[in-house]
Amino acid sequence: MQPQDEAPRRRDLRDMTEGEVAELLAELGQPAFRAKQIRSWVWEKGVGSFDEMSNLPKTLRQALAKRCTLGGAEEAVCQESADGSKKYLIRYDDGVCVECVGMPSRARLTVCASTQAGCGMRCAFCATGKAGLTRSLTAAEIYQQVLHVRDDFDTRVTGVVLMGQGEPFANYDESLAALRRLNDPEGLGIGARHLTVSTCGIIPMITRFSREPEQFTLAVSLHSAVQRTRDALMPGVKRYSLLRLYDAMGEYVDRTGRRPTYEYALIKGINDTDEELAYLCDFCRDTLCHVNIIQLNQVPHSKFQPSSAERANTFVRRLAAVGVEATIRKSRGADIDAACGQLRQRNA
Ligand code: SAH
Repeated sequence: MQPQDEAPRRRDLRDMTEGEVAELLAELGQPAFRAKQIRSWVWEKGVGSFDEMSNLPKTLRQALAKRCTLGGAEEAVCQESADGSKKYLIRYDDGVCVECVGMPSRARLTVCASTQAGCGMRCAFCATGKAGLTRSLTAAEIYQQVLHVRDDFDTRVTGVVLMGQGEPFANYDESLAALRRLNDPEGLGIGARHLTVSTCGIIPMITRFSREPEQFTLAVSLHSAVQRTRDALMPGVKRYSLLRLYDAMGEYVDRTGRRPTYEYALIKGINDTDEELAYLCDFCRDTLCHVNIIQLNQVPHSKFQPSSAERANTFVRRLAAVGVEATIRKSRGADIDAACGQLRQRNA
């Protein structure tokens, strides 16, 4: 609690709208062009303090520091994989930590970012789900992960996937605002099609997403096309039936004309049987989609085991035979627990 007579709480400049920044500058008697300079420092360069904004007069920097913060984030841990990918644990001012990953390949750098600290969806096979939700991140905090990876690799980020911790559609507004900043030429200028949201399948938000003007890419974690199996694996979306998901995805495709991805992590004896494969083929047949077969990352103390590579190949072949495009996602950074909340768990 703040005493009554203390100055009002400073706001994070990055959470302020352009209108609010313009208002603040006017109040401080500053010309409007300062807003563009500030935007560039915050969103392109990603500075951590007002002092670094070297083309602003010192008095303005001081005035801004009195009124606003620039929400800090620091790297708590960094692990590098033999395949060149790097995983970071980022700690925000309030001590909350999230993971993000940088995955370089030839001329590209893809960042996997988190949208929440922890997650409330309770997927049975996921390390993050075990600990529950700590809190959602702001758009600026999501954005900051990408800037951190860019600066560490010292190269342009060519794609971002919101596939780290958390459920982006349980934090819809902030996730979308982060994507817009990443897309903005005054931000990182990443093409919308190279910005991907992955959801466990919150149907009202899929519908909302299909109406957004930008051509962002959608991935849906399917993991089973058998209702009973999916309910057991993904209890957080039990109330949204596969039938409704099927319809919502049909509408998404009709409205956007874009191809969504289904993620399917193969779990031995659970969702990799012939029966499961037949249901998956039926779910995808004659629809516009791409299936990403993923090798399950082993979570310590979990009863779930990954399927064999042979089984993954069978899935791809059978899907192709019914006209469904499928690939096996190359697993990156297995030696550094690159997926699914394991770094955060270990350091919590
Ligand atoms: N909540 C969103 C995005 C974050 S999870 C979603 O569910 O899509 C990103 C992806 O990792 C999801 O497809 C999720 O199901 C998958 N995942 C979680 N735990 C995993 C594990 N142990 N092995 C492989 N993939 C996993």
